[in-house]
Amino acid sequence: MIENPVPPVSLGAVERAATRIAGRVVRTPLVPSPSLSERAGQSVHLKLETRQPIGAFKLRGAMNAILSLDDAARRRGLVTASTGNHGRAVAYAARELGVAATICMSSLVPANKVEAIRSLGADIRIVGVSQDDAQDEVERLVQTLRLTPIPPFDDVDVVAGQGTIGLELVEDLPDIATVLVPLSGGGLAGGIAVAVKALKPQARIIGVSMERGAAMHAAIAAGKPVATREEETLADSLGGGIGLSNRVTFTLCRDLLDGIVLLTEDEIAAGIRHAAREEEEVVEGAGAVGIAAILADKVQLLGPTAVIVSGGNIDPEIHQDLIGRSTR
Ligand SMILES: *Cc1c(COP(=O)(O)O)cnc(C)c1O
Repeated sequence: MIENPVPPVSLGAVERAATRIAGRVVRTPLVPSPSLSERAGQSVHLKLETRQPIGAFKLRGAMNAILSLDDAARRRGLVTASTGNHGRAVAYAARELGVAATICMSSLVPANKVEAIRSLGADIRIVGVSQDDAQDEVERLVQTLRLTPIPPFDDVDVVAGQGTIGLELVEDLPDIATVLVPLSGGGLAGGIAVAVKALKPQARIIGVSMERGAAMHAAIAAGKPVATREEETLADSLGGGIGLSNRVTFTLCRDLLDGIVLLTEDEIAAGIRHAAREEEEVVEGAGAVGIAAILADKVQLLGPTAVIVSGGNIDPEIHQDLIGRSTR
């Protein structure tokens, strides 16, 4: 096998994505955090992807992927298995673009999540009792009805879409030195790393995951994608594997990330609490891990730092419970 040293996603692809999705996704603000800056001894800024219309960055990748399809593929309709932010993103983008979308999910998905996606106009198909069953249904629909799959992270157009965050970071913070990025499948971290490192080669990109089921961390440690056990976590949007036949994001993250920080559940809870109390932002567990890594003193920040606050879709009761609780 010949190793391909050229990254599978280029700066040019990210720039084309930015042009393609402009006006269809929010160009989110980068806001200073006085409290985190004081704590870290560096200027710390929050990139508020919570301001996207679906409450998370995933609209960027989904929008770019759908806009990159040819007419025939679009007309056949889209399909995906995500019940979380990617599912919302595909449903929202499909409706905006007048394309049909089917979201497959297992019968274990909570009713409020099902309704959130249904209300965005997608067709819902409930099958089986696990995410794997839902994914099998996606593959079946691709085979039988020739629907067009929109993958959550392992796709060059999705990665390029997420990478548009990196272009905005460099524009807004030209002396950027460190980026803290929530890390699951690696579309977000990989895309941002492509853009930021091409423009600012000295900048460091640090992935942040939960200790419970950090799939990309395990894969990089093993030198190849490995099966990881999925566990309950406050950072639920970071759950799931990277795919045993990962094509794009494993190599990107392995080659471009400068480190990965792992957090306990208590540390993630502290991040959510800090976001609510000090930054006045409702942030979900996955979106709060960058903040949490700083609070836990698990990263060394060298110079101006951007923290990707990737999403805000948290169950209001869980959020209330967490911020009401007094700790440390
Ligand atoms: C999907 C998601 C992530 C992780 O993105 P990957 O591309 O899978 O690494 C982080 N935060 C939120 C809120 C998400 O929905």
